Amino acid sequence: MSANTILLRGKPVAEAVYDRLKPRIAALRGQNIIPGLAVVLVGEDPASAVYVQSKTRTFQRLELVSETFQLPASTSETELLQLVDRLNEDERLHGVLVQLPLPGHIHSGTVLERVSPLKDVDGFHPDNLGRLLTGQPRYIPCTPQGILEILSYYNIATAQRHAVVVGRSPIVGKPMMALLANKWDRGNATVTVCHTGTPDLAEHTLHADLLIVASGQPHLVNSRMVKEGVDIVDVGINRVPDSSPKGYHLEGDVATNEMMGHAHAITPVPGGVGPMTVAMLVNNTVLAAEISAGVPSHDQVIF
Ligand code: NAP
Repeated sequence: MSANTILLRGKPVAEAVYDRLKPRIAALRGQNIIPGLAVVLVGEDPASAVYVQSKTRTFQRLELVSETFQLPASTSETELLQLVDRLNEDERLHGVLVQLPLPGHIHSGTVLERVSPLKDVDGFHPDNLGRLLTGQPRYIPCTPQGILEILSYYNIATAQRHAVVVGRSPIVGKPMMALLANKWDRGNATVTVCHTGTPDLAEHTLHADLLIVASGQPHLVNSRMVKEGVDIVDVGINRVPDSSPKGYHLEGDVATNEMMGHAHAITPVPGGVGPMTVAMLVNNTVLAAEISAGVPSHDQVIF
């Protein structure tokens, strides 16, 4: 039995990232540069509004620039592309983030591709995802990058282990797969990727030493689907309706309670991966400001 399952909380890891960034922010300030982020929010998606507020608060706390551009849900794709073009040219803003999901009439791929690859701090542009795959990353997508920070902080090994990733989205699953499989100190794992085309999910998750679940399905993975001593990262944030005043509570993609005493370690939901996504967004925005200022980067890695 893994009697004491370790809770991999994100907050101390995020604070360690901010502490690491402070001298870099100060050095930029010495050159009269304040890292700046533009956040574009289209429509009224409540979860997106919460994420954007949390990003804004963190940027304010670190005395960085964060400007939110709130557009109505009726905004056309052409109007949104025009705003992105304008932000690409704005020298005060080093990062441009278009909050997903976008309303159905807007093709998100077209919009994400319009963001300048040098300002694409989300790391979703094909240029940046391609760089990740070829081992010369510029901006690593925030959520998988944050997961690697958690694993490193809590000394959870990746090398020589079997990592199973559930989910293949371009935001989480695919970059996670590349990062874990790459030959570097935070990867070197043998990686299996599962999705809705996987006939028997448990057949794979049962063989995981390290399990990353990003499916968007509440409690998809239970304790019968994993071996004892597994390390689990639960990426899911699912709003499950209930009779509480808020009308919902948050659940991960993993049945966490069942994992206590069974898994070696697990990220809680909320409070696990969530804080890391914002921390890595700050990291990528600082990196973007350094790149635009021609400062040699402290942060770029080669696989
Ligand atoms: P997504 O784009 O909906 O992708 C979900 C992936 O999971 C897809 O690849 C899908 O397979 C797969 N999947 C769905 N049901 C499955 C099942 N029953 N068995 C196996 N695979 C299944 O979602 P996402 O953007 O990657 O996000 C995933 C979750 O993470 C969501 O809950 C989201 O809210 C959360 N999230 C959290 C953070 C954070 O900061 N903590 C950041 C990003 C996302 P197919 O490809 O076959 O459809």
